[in-house]
Amino acid sequence: MLKINEIYYSVQGESTFAGRPCVFIRLTFCNLRCSYCDTEYAFYEGYDKSIDSVLDEIKKYNCNLVEVTGGEPLVQKESLELMKRLAEEGYEVLLETGGSLPIKDIDKRVRIILDLKCPSSKMMKKNLYENIDHLKPVDEVKFVIGTREDYEWTKEIINKYELSNKCEILFSVVFGKLEPVQLVNWIIEDNLNFVRFQLQMHKFIWEPDKKGV
Ligand code: SF4
Repeated sequence: MLKINEIYYSVQGESTFAGRPCVFIRLTFCNLRCSYCDTEYAFYEGYDKSIDSVLDEIKKYNCNLVEVTGGEPLVQKESLELMKRLAEEGYEVLLETGGSLPIKDIDKRVRIILDLKCPSSKMMKKNLYENIDHLKPVDEVKFVIGTREDYEWTKEIINKYELSNKCEILFSVVFGKLEPVQLVNWIIEDNLNFVRFQLQMHKFIWEPDKKGV
């Protein structure tokens, strides 16, 4: 059994898949407490559901792109089986993970979007850097940047782990804390031409705190 917070059909708001219709499976629980978290409702709320029943439910959307997200999906060990079953069924599977739990046993067909938590998240010490060794070229590392200190730290981490040779790199702002234009200016000034800047699209399409979109 999995503890599910919500299953819904919307448009992918982030990553290189931004703009594509996508079914979201949000799992309950998170082992982190980021300063800017916008999904605190997923920390505890949820209902039990078997993997078979999840697969039945998402079929009705007739959409091939599925994202497993949270909270932190990897807190529940059965999430690995869920992703494997989704891949076996022929879905294009994305995983959003906060980057503090191991990714090495995830089915290789799954595209991983891995956060590395910046200083202002207050969760930086939880980053599991061994995960970088298990990233595939199609995976994506995401930095959510709220301050200049976060930005400088991010550049150091990219250099230290040679991330620009390993996978896609996404830069986002902490919504309401850092102006997007500021981050874009820094990227251009430093000519970080391997970075993909992104906005959390759903915060602009709907009210910023709207759930289930
Ligand atoms: S990892 Fe995600 S869900 Fe968990 S506290 Fe951080 S932002 Fe919230």
